[in-house]
Amino acid sequence: MSAEFTHIVVLGAAESGVGAALLAKKLGFSVFVSDGAVIKSKFKKILSEQAIEFEEGGHTIAKIIEASTIIKSPGISEKNEAVKIIRKHGIELISEIEFGFRYKGDSKIIAITGSNGKSTATSWIYDMLVRAEMNVALVGNIGISFAKQIAENPCEWYVMEVSSFQLDDIKTFRPNIAVLLNITPDHLDRYEYKFENYVQTKFKITENQIDTDCFVINQDDDAINAYLLNHTTKAKQLFFTMSNTTNNQEGAMIKGEHMIIDVNQDSFELSIHELSLRGKHNQYNSMAAGITAKVAGIRKEKIRESLTSFNGLSHRLEKVATIKGVEYINDSKATNVNAVWFALESMNKPTVLILGGVDKGNDYNEIAYLVEEKVKAIICLGVDNTILHQSFEGIVPAIYDASSATEAVKIAYEITEKGDAVLLSPACASFDLFKNFEDRGEQFKNAVKAL
Ligand code: ADP
Repeated sequence: MSAEFTHIVVLGAAESGVGAALLAKKLGFSVFVSDGAVIKSKFKKILSEQAIEFEEGGHTIAKIIEASTIIKSPGISEKNEAVKIIRKHGIELISEIEFGFRYKGDSKIIAITGSNGKSTATSWIYDMLVRAEMNVALVGNIGISFAKQIAENPCEWYVMEVSSFQLDDIKTFRPNIAVLLNITPDHLDRYEYKFENYVQTKFKITENQIDTDCFVINQDDDAINAYLLNHTTKAKQLFFTMSNTTNNQEGAMIKGEHMIIDVNQDSFELSIHELSLRGKHNQYNSMAAGITAKVAGIRKEKIRESLTSFNGLSHRLEKVATIKGVEYINDSKATNVNAVWFALESMNKPTVLILGGVDKGNDYNEIAYLVEEKVKAIICLGVDNTILHQSFEGIVPAIYDASSATEAVKIAYEITEKGDAVLLSPACASFDLFKNFEDRGEQFKNAVKAL
């Protein structure tokens, strides 16, 4: 691409769109940013300061189709009118991570995707690289966009959380190490309600990898295994598993009470009870992180140190407080049924489960037996709780409705006794009653602390 003739249009002006615009500007391209909604003031300020032209509240198609390359923010779907027109005109449409990839220089990328656990595994891997004093940035879905980091502070390594929406529009994006944690139904509204389309997108993380790259994969995941029966990757595959107990496989496994990580004929073990985060899902995350760090050349001691002391993130099975012998846990980030399954699986006390919000087409049968075994009451926290009542009546002894976090916590306080736990793990998006999952989690925590 030649700078004089390259005109970039960015659709969407949030973290990734603004990051892409900053990088385009830095590279000397002309840039125009177009957002169909109102742009948040913090992003408007950045665009104005950098003298980047933008519009909001609608798309001026005539200006958009002048672009040589269009960068689409992950929140914008193929149903968007501007996107349909761009497709008709055959203009190159890419995601922000693809754009960043083209200008990343010699740096290396570790990219993590999956339906659940992306933020946790990404932060855990980042923690390991930081402990090893590598020159590394944490980018992608989790915070600063990849493009912005390249524009402002390029590093030798990028640990990147990647969503399926960002993978949708890659062309050449190629991580040196790709991690696929799991694939369970989520976001199907963006994939014509076809699970296979969503699975296919997740596998794009490896499509451009070459034989010197590594692909770290969950061997216990049905959707992943089914896909691998008919598809291949050029990358070296490293599996993690809890169910395969053969000894001679490179990767990671749980055998009895031990986790064994074996990469490049160098293995080490630790007890699963030493892991700093609880739950089976975190055993999976730690195996994925351990393999990845080993492939990246980090010493076993540093990996062990991180596996046993990493703090975890807020809103993911986060311990809030114990009040009158009742433990309160904030798992507000559990926005699908699979995440709730793992949360319940990790519970070893009679539990009051706070569920609900915007249902993305959940099938609650998947958690019915765990609810029956571990849950003494459900509190529905949403505007419309009909589906929850239908799904759990007869399975749990009591179901309550609440229309705020404070009300839910109050009910929980009244119906629990010493030795119980209260778990906010909603299985749903939060937009009916809250700004986002963080807001939901914070309101829950504040209500608990106010008891
Ligand atoms: P993501 O970034 O993919 O949404 P998070 O790490 O933020 O993942 O966790 C989201 C939810 O999923 C939390 O409720 C967390 O406890 C749960 N979770 C974390 N890791 C896994 C995993 N490997 N499998 C299933 N659920 C997980």
